Amino acid sequence: MPTLALHNPATGALLAELPADDADSIATKARAARAAQPAWAARPLAERIAIVQRFRDAVVAEREALARTLTQEVGKPIAQSRNELNGLLPRLDFFLSQAATTLAEEPVFDEGGMRERIAHGPLGLVANISAWNYPWFVSCNVVVPALLAGNAVLYKPSEFATLTGQHLVRLLHAAGVPADVLALVVGGGAAGAALLEQPIDGLFFTGSVATGKRIAAALAGRLVKLQLELGGKDPSYVRADADPKAAAESLADGAMYNSGQSCCSVERIYVQEKVHDAFVEHFLATVDGFKVGDPMDEATYIGAIARAPQLDVLDAQVADAQAKGATLLRGGQRLPGNAYAPTVFTNVNHTMALMREESFGPVIGIQKVKGDDEAVALMNDTRYGLTAGVYTKDEAAAKALLARVSAGSVYWNCCDRVSPRLPWSGVGDSGIGLTLSTHGLLAFTRPKAWHLRQP
Ligand code: NAD
Repeated sequence: MPTLALHNPATGALLAELPADDADSIATKARAARAAQPAWAARPLAERIAIVQRFRDAVVAEREALARTLTQEVGKPIAQSRNELNGLLPRLDFFLSQAATTLAEEPVFDEGGMRERIAHGPLGLVANISAWNYPWFVSCNVVVPALLAGNAVLYKPSEFATLTGQHLVRLLHAAGVPADVLALVVGGGAAGAALLEQPIDGLFFTGSVATGKRIAAALAGRLVKLQLELGGKDPSYVRADADPKAAAESLADGAMYNSGQSCCSVERIYVQEKVHDAFVEHFLATVDGFKVGDPMDEATYIGAIARAPQLDVLDAQVADAQAKGATLLRGGQRLPGNAYAPTVFTNVNHTMALMREESFGPVIGIQKVKGDDEAVALMNDTRYGLTAGVYTKDEAAAKALLARVSAGSVYWNCCDRVSPRLPWSGVGDSGIGLTLSTHGLLAFTRPKAWHLRQP
């Protein structure tokens, strides 16, 4: 039987050694989930809603302990772990408030004895392979609507956030989800690959582009619904008429929050030349106020980089930018506790990996631009398309500009923001499919067309 060891990335301490799944145990869980799914789907929706409501109450009751576990296993500053758990509640509330209307059968035609209806039945057995950076958010974006819609779920948390994954499953089971309807799969890439071998009806993945493409290739030839929520290289543009201080404070937070390890972190900033210097000055002042340190310290803003190999990626991007003539204004080096110093470059361009490849760390390049057309061209010069933003006083100009930018979410005077009411999706290498919004409930259903003629 394989095992999975979990370490605190900030201290290196061993947190737990868990029994992990192998291909046989995963196949057993898949069979049991498949067998349990029809009875789960047959229960009145109101019962499934009541179960998720009890789960929400349990998250509130255990919030502090859950936040501490999250900080220990991924190195997220404790204040930000609490924010994640608090931010989970409106997501759950949104699904709870929308499930009954969104999943209800829709009458669409009734004339001359002929009726037509759309029913939203479950896909059946779905698998969720998840990431570690916001494990409560990304797992609940899938597991909760999938269960509400009547699916059985095989859930594999990231091997770096499995203690959180265990809590999520424990609380859902305690709230009333039958054990076989929601199964925890423990392990890393091999367990994920074994999960793909099961006779699943849908695969919902959150993670890197490289793994997402591997999964798409593994499922090619099988008619399994596939959703991939992948990485980004999200740009933001500060126009000449923006308030440079307000934009700098917002974007520094968007770039560095969660130590830069968000799929929608701001990863590239373009600033119109008139406000460039003022913007950079305010940006540095904001970054200088970010406390780097022990993730358990209440005042810490930048914690540990969760995966040690990512430090090599950051070092390589810094070295490449310096070799190509960028100006390093802050940081550029590792710090104790597996941390990385908040790093700010100016005089960057698109020959640099810093401006092209996902950094996933507290590292940012700020590029001077002449105006809107150059900014739009640079924002679109990417294989990704998760989010993009613009800071300006002029709403009409912002809308015209953002209409030309290829991204799943666009922001006017804000960034790094996810709303339960809006679909979360990507363009290009940022993925296929979506979560959240009412569309993110319907993503776990199969529409069935009913043609009913009165005899
Ligand atoms: P990852 O790709 O390394 O791992 C993701 C999951 O895939 C893990 O559970 C892992 O065990 C599993 N896995 C690895 N190899 C596999 C294989 N061959 N077959 C099946 N499963 C396999 O990603 P990560 O480091 O956990 O997450 C970081 C990435 O996730 C970043 O790129 C980030 O931008 C992205 N992300 C995207 C979103 C979004 O909503 N778009 C949200 C969060 C994170």
